[in-house]
Amino acid sequence: MGIVVQKFGGTSLADTDKIKNVAKAVIKEKNNGNDVVVIVSAMGHTTDYLVKLSSEISKNPNKREMDMLLSTGEQVSIALLTMAIQEEGYEAISLNASQVGIITEKVHSTARIIDIKTDKLNKILNEGKIIVVAGFQGVTEDGEITTLGRGGSDTSAVAIAASLKAQRCDIYTDVEGVYTTDPRIVPNASRLEIVSYEEMLELARTGANVLHPRAVETAKVYNVPLRVRSTFKLENLGTYIIGVNEMEISKNVTGVAADTTQVRIVICDVPDQPGNAGKVFEKLAQSNISVDMIIQSYARHNLNTNDIAFTVDENDLKNTLEILENVKKELNASNIFVDDDIAKVSIVGAGMIDRPGIASSMFNALAKANINIKMISTSEIKISCLVNKNDAKKAIQVLHSTFELGSDEIAEVKGDLPNFV
Ligand code: ASP
Ligand code: MG
Repeated sequence: MGIVVQKFGGTSLADTDKIKNVAKAVIKEKNNGNDVVVIVSAMGHTTDYLVKLSSEISKNPNKREMDMLLSTGEQVSIALLTMAIQEEGYEAISLNASQVGIITEKVHSTARIIDIKTDKLNKILNEGKIIVVAGFQGVTEDGEITTLGRGGSDTSAVAIAASLKAQRCDIYTDVEGVYTTDPRIVPNASRLEIVSYEEMLELARTGANVLHPRAVETAKVYNVPLRVRSTFKLENLGTYIIGVNEMEISKNVTGVAADTTQVRIVICDVPDQPGNAGKVFEKLAQSNISVDMIIQSYARHNLNTNDIAFTVDENDLKNTLEILENVKKELNASNIFVDDDIAKVSIVGAGMIDRPGIASSMFNALAKANINIKMISTSEIKISCLVNKNDAKKAIQVLHSTFELGSDEIAEVKGDLPNFV
């Protein structure tokens, strides 16, 4: 027996009946003989509601005050869940991030955790108590409240599991695990029993919204076994996320994901000289803008210029264009084009390493469905194609069936459809 960390998201805590239900899941784990630390998100859509309140007061609210505001959501959950556990006759105590000592860097709204104090947690666990910790929030060395970015309580849970050397971190949510693709788009999508950190990281980044990518990254670095499972179907096993070396790989492709939150930008006729690409991306990096896919065209001899195309998050578009206007002048480039009608469709799988032919199967399948590819990028375990937004749904369906990812069962569908369907 050891320490188990459980994390419950907003939908699992949406009202007091659901909180009582969560208390039962916590107690079940405690009765298995484990020490239990629970991390919670804010109830239901509380965080969205708080963001809305702030927007009614200010278009550009102060980030420190935003963290002050948003961190209150989780504090409501810890107190109510602790009361619900106590009502069942078990000893429990709630702690916020300052009380635990979840130390972050001094950055508001997207802080990273740098240290977690474990003395107090271990002492309380030794007394036999269940601990309920506020996710998503942290505190700086000098006592300022920070938050980790939207969806960040997954990361809180994994970081606490890593620091306590927990035997497992279970992420409870409203879906039954990680699927081969979004079951709302492909009804016979299969639940994956096991997926590697590496694959999950790619799936999380390319639009499978089950887990916060930083949570998966942290789990990978500290080798924390993760499990995603449903709060509402405790009898189901969910999906285990573990190191790639610990699993047997049977399929080339594990999953298909789509991301429609990016825009493509092309900067045309950049002189073909050393240092120019560096200049473009250095300026973006200085403004903290992450670039995803990048393609530099082949410089034809007679022109001696390149086109550089890349994608950024749609929220960074305005900033990116401001920066590029200056870069364009400095480098004497000709034009800047923006294309926001794009979706990035990706196939992911640790099994594609060293197996040629997967990329061509993907391109042929898209071609057969009459889907044009606008840009391609690859990594060892992922191939992504940019397509038009209104082709995204068809692309996912076609790729899911090409790589034979379907099951005989129809998955249960929850939530709103993705915006591109
Ligand atoms: N409550 C925060 C959010 O809604 C953190 C989380 O749920 O993980 O983004
Ligand atoms: Mg969440």
